[in-house]
Amino acid sequence: MKISVLTLFPEVYDVLNSGIIGKAIEEKLFEVEVTNIRDYSLDKHKHCDDYSFGGGAGMVMCPQPVCDAIKAVDPEHKAKRIYMSPKGKTLSQDMVVELSKCDNLLLLSGSYEGIDERIIEKDIDMEISIGDYVLTSGDLPALVVINSVARYIPGVLGNEETTSEESFSNILLEYPQYTRPSVYEGMEVPAVLLSGNHGEVDKWRLQKQIEITKDRRPDLYKKYLKSLED
Ligand code: SAM
Repeated sequence: MKISVLTLFPEVYDVLNSGIIGKAIEEKLFEVEVTNIRDYSLDKHKHCDDYSFGGGAGMVMCPQPVCDAIKAVDPEHKAKRIYMSPKGKTLSQDMVVELSKCDNLLLLSGSYEGIDERIIEKDIDMEISIGDYVLTSGDLPALVVINSVARYIPGVLGNEETTSEESFSNILLEYPQYTRPSVYEGMEVPAVLLSGNHGEVDKWRLQKQIEITKDRRPDLYKKYLKSLED
C-alpha cells in the first residue's frame, strides 16, 4: 500500500520513523509519501490561505495549491482521496479494515478554518473525522488513520500482537490483561488465568468483555445483543 499525505506541516510525520510503524516502513511493507502543499503555491510569497468569502475570523486554504498538489501526487485518481475533517464520518474499526484493503490512499490535512469547499466537491472521495472535537490541523487525524490502517497490513504486527482479539474486533471491548508477577503489591492476578484451563480462560475473558462493554459503552453492548439475536 502507498499512503500519500498532503499537508502544510510535513515535519509532523517524522514520528512515523519510530516504533512498529517505522520498522514496517523501513521493511517496505507499505510506503508513506509526504508532500508539502506550500511547494505548489503559485503565490510569490507561497501563501496558501486567504480570507473567507462572507466574512468570519479565520482564513481558508486556497484551491490552487491544494488542487495542484493533488494532481501532482495522484494524477490518474488511483488513490482513495480522503479529507481529514471534523465534518466527516467518524473513523471506526470497520472503516479502518476497509481502508486497509486499498492499494493507494491520499490523506489531505487541512489547516486554518479548512479547505475551499470546491476542492472537496471536485477532488475528494470521502471525509473522515477522528472524533467530535476540533484540532488545529488534520495532521494528527491523518497519523491516526495511517497508524490504525497499518496495523492491518500483513507483516506489520509481529506474532506477539494481533488484531483479531482486541477491542472492537467482535464489537466488544477487550478483556483485562495481566503479566508477571502474579502478585503485585498484594494484588493477585485472577486465578483462572493461572489455571492452564483454556476453556475456562476463554469463558472468563468473554464475561469480562461483556461486563466492561455494558458498563462503559452501552451503545456497543446494544449492538452486541442485536448481533446475538441476528
Ligand atoms: N472550521 C472547521 C470546522 O468548524 O469544522 C475546523 C477547522 S480545523 C481548525 C482545521 C483542520 O483540522 C480541518 O481542516 C481538518 O483538516 C482538521 N481537523 C480538525 N479537527 C478534526 C477532526 N476531529 N477530525 C479530522 N480532522 C480534523
